[in-house]
Amino acid sequence: MQIIDGKAISLAVKERVRDEIAKDGLKIGLAVVIVGNDQASRVYVNNKKKACEFCGITSYEYALPEETTEEQLLELVDTLNGDSNVNGILVQLPLPKQINEQKIIERISPMKDVDAFHAVNVGKIMIGEYSFLPCTPAGVMELIHSTGTEISGKECVVIGRSNIVGKPMAMLLLHENGTVTICHSRTKNLAEVCRRADILVSAVGKAGFVTADMVKDGAIVIDVGMNRNAEGKLCGDVDFDGVAPKCSYITPVPGGVGPMTIAMLMENTLRAKKLQS
Ligand code: NAP
Repeated sequence: MQIIDGKAISLAVKERVRDEIAKDGLKIGLAVVIVGNDQASRVYVNNKKKACEFCGITSYEYALPEETTEEQLLELVDTLNGDSNVNGILVQLPLPKQINEQKIIERISPMKDVDAFHAVNVGKIMIGEYSFLPCTPAGVMELIHSTGTEISGKECVVIGRSNIVGKPMAMLLLHENGTVTICHSRTKNLAEVCRRADILVSAVGKAGFVTADMVKDGAIVIDVGMNRNAEGKLCGDVDFDGVAPKCSYITPVPGGVGPMTIAMLMENTLRAKKLQS
């Protein structure tokens, strides 16, 4: 069994981005908008700012109060859409309940939609013509590629069908000719389905959800989950100690998918600049 080192792989991605920006002398800006006081969101935004600094991308932070209205946020998005110093726009989710997230996402120019959440970019992902790859699934693909495993013809099982992880994840695996099954809360015989997987990706959001009896010997297990266990410690969906001995490769939490998501965001911001040039 080998542990896939997401920290090292994400560093390599960020170095690739940094070197390209430096080589071509590019001026790139990413606007990061955060509304309210969600602690987890604050941590993500700070990590994104640090990654921007590392890569040579200027980050513009807009920290808005909890009571911000939908109209105010739409106005800000319009301003950022029209600002030529801003190549990418990221609105940190979740948003306070008075704001319709989908409405905000749809207002971001698809050319600046570095999260790839806009319907235009989601549609492009469906047909395999990417402007931007969705950050977390794209990061997972990098991790799988790092193992040297050919995805074509493999049984791939994705647990979770959210718009930001599960569905695009399945699409990227399908584009590489995996035989893909998507599981969710209504799936019958989940353990049996998961045991078919050569590549198992879990994006559920429940600590200890994937247990050893759900994993085939020699499988690659990718843990997208970011949860807190009973002691408040960050953990994934996978019972790591039980599952790891059965795997060929496994990602840890922390240090697996998490850092990859941010690295892919940097890559998308560079891509946005090129699209707009
Ligand atoms: P989500 O929108 O809550 O989706 C969870 C999915 O899991 C749903 O499709 C749900 O099925 C399914 N599910 C829940 N209980 C299940 C069960 N008992 N059996 C089978 N499927 C079940 O969550 P998300 O936004 O996709 O995120 C998933 C996890 O990934 C979270 O822990 C999140 O924090 C983490 N995450 C990590 C990163 C990263 O960078 N590492 C990025 C994004 C998300 P239904 O659709 O039927 O309800």
